[in-house]
Amino acid sequence: MLEVRDLHAGYGRVEVLRGVSLDLAAGEIVALLGANGVGKTTFNGVLSGLLKPWSGGIALEGAPLPAGDTKAALDAGLVLVPEGRHIFPNLTVRENLWLGGYRRGRANRARNLDHVLDTFPRLAERLAQRAGTMSGGEQQMLAIGRGLMAEPRLLILDEPSLGLSPILVEEMFALIGRLNADGLTILLVEQNVHLTLEVAHRGFVMENGAITVTGSAPELLADPDLQRSYLGV
Ligand code: ATP
Repeated sequence: MLEVRDLHAGYGRVEVLRGVSLDLAAGEIVALLGANGVGKTTFNGVLSGLLKPWSGGIALEGAPLPAGDTKAALDAGLVLVPEGRHIFPNLTVRENLWLGGYRRGRANRARNLDHVLDTFPRLAERLAQRAGTMSGGEQQMLAIGRGLMAEPRLLILDEPSLGLSPILVEEMFALIGRLNADGLTILLVEQNVHLTLEVAHRGFVMENGAITVTGSAPELLADPDLQRSYLGV
């Protein structure tokens, strides 16, 4: 459903992505792994239209996405839940969620809100609470709920487990599995490699702005280089 071909991108004259190509099939959870600073966030920025690539192409469900166009990416169903959540702390939970559906029209937004509140009963209890006063785990759920309001076909989750307690990390991965079981295709960028490869079907390893290793999750879990670099074996 997602085809990325030979993406090059960077900041100023510094090249960060040096020819990234990858494919996702509908219904997959695919992990994007890699050390800090290799370009994962930059890649997400290009996918979601926040950053215009220098060259290369992206297509979603066969249709090319215009480069650097966040609205086109959203309308096509490519939704990023960014690292660090970026919720609006002074707005309520309801207002944050409502904003997530801003491209979808009033009736769809109301329907999407019902769906999100079914998925996250905790958010339903706290609709009138200011988002900045929610716990870290609740804020992460809000960030994902806001993403779901946009009706993703492909959901990109950038480090959703970051800063969560071990129990909430487990809950987060269980949630990712449920969203996928409901039919959502997910690109999961994570440092928590072990849990990620337990929930993902396949994975890519990015090093220095390029994909260097590709495999099924069991293959990656058994890969001796990966075990040394990321799994602490
Ligand atoms: P992390 O897991 O730490 O977020 P990452 O793999 O997501 O790392 P990026 O955030 O994409 O990596 O950063 C890749 C490189 O691009 C880094 O060297 C970073 O310093 C640089 N970089 C990122 N954003 C900018 C920016 N706005 N301006 C200049 N350089 C940037």
